[in-house]
Amino acid sequence: MEEFEDFTQARKLRNVRYDVRGPIAAEASRLERAGHRITKLNIGNLAPFGFEAPDSIMMDMIKHLPTAQGYSESAGIYSARTAVAQYYQTKGMKDAAVEDVYLGNGVSELIGMTLQALINPGDEILIPAPDYPLWTGLTALYQGIPVHYICDDQNHWWPDPEEIESKVTDRTKALVVINPNNPTGAVYPREILEAIVDICRRHNLMLFTDEIYEKITYDGAEMINACTLSDDVFTITFSGLSKTWRVAGYRSGWIFISGPTHRAKNYLEGLQLMSNLRMCANVPGQHAIQTALGGYQSIDEYITPGGRLYEQRKVAYDLLCDIPGVNVQQMDGAMYLFPRLDPEIYPIDNDEAFAMELLRQQKILVSHGRAFNWIDDQHFRLVTLPSVEDMEEAIAGIAQFLAEYRDA
Ligand code: PLP
Repeated sequence: MEEFEDFTQARKLRNVRYDVRGPIAAEASRLERAGHRITKLNIGNLAPFGFEAPDSIMMDMIKHLPTAQGYSESAGIYSARTAVAQYYQTKGMKDAAVEDVYLGNGVSELIGMTLQALINPGDEILIPAPDYPLWTGLTALYQGIPVHYICDDQNHWWPDPEEIESKVTDRTKALVVINPNNPTGAVYPREILEAIVDICRRHNLMLFTDEIYEKITYDGAEMINACTLSDDVFTITFSGLSKTWRVAGYRSGWIFISGPTHRAKNYLEGLQLMSNLRMCANVPGQHAIQTALGGYQSIDEYITPGGRLYEQRKVAYDLLCDIPGVNVQQMDGAMYLFPRLDPEIYPIDNDEAFAMELLRQQKILVSHGRAFNWIDDQHFRLVTLPSVEDMEEAIAGIAQFLAEYRDA
């Protein structure tokens, strides 16, 4: 028999990372199979924590199953796209139309389509650090260069427009904003968003604004949809059903395109091609969109005092603050905390190894900071999804692990 070389992965994957579902998560699955109970604080997946979808959404899906067997138009079904367009009309985007909306298998697929339609090898995309790592991972996959701008934990994790602007080059194509932010929970103030929009305006950049947590804000934090701040900046807004409506498994998201679309005809043809190539998004999931947007907004019950997300966030924050050397900022939105471990007390040289050890010793799964393209080893992210009792138990486990780390 002739000796063949092994089958290998494409070279372009070498620079692609998605550590949130990487080796630590794999180790957690292994431990689970070996019979251990793992407390999973690593993924923003609401349903397993008892945040079930509104009944109306499930009823809608069930009702449409018989008629949702075929493919839909690739951009998505008309009723759902209209509902999305109308949603942005109510936010002041009075010209929002069905043609401005594409539906996808979650925001994730749409991040892929919009970037792939844009990037030529070597093009630069400005992405926050820390970020939701799909933005960096897919930019790298499409042979673009992710250029990170720093959101400073000394300044509420907000971006610094001056620093962003200093990173614009003649290869920069687009600027990504994640607001409310994953992993930090920051919600950006109007002045910063206006400054970011202005940078896009002056440097002719597309603005990609990932607003999947837009309805998850606390204590009156004002969420501003970046698209409402201009009519002269080409903006793609991303959102969907995974978080607010708790149906991440239905894989249902959308984009809304606004601004000077007449200057983006060629790009939009590329986007349409990308949309055609993936046939269409999961059709039952598309049906749920109209009901989700038009129905009772039950998320509001969770994010106000007495609501689960509100109370769990408070407990998690208070308990983390009690641990020596843990600095944490209360977040204004989303459902994550991104604590910093004081390097004087916890000199960590490999945050992934640190999180792995926490998992092995305490059976608690968190995501290490570098998984979000953060610049040091002193952070980790946890979700504020477990019940108050489970959260107390989990943070007691983290506290014990850190006490042993201090004593070692
Ligand atoms: N964008 C952000 C900021 C996220 O945090 C996530 C998921 O955690 C996504 C997009 C992906 O959402 P989807 O389930 O719609 O693909």
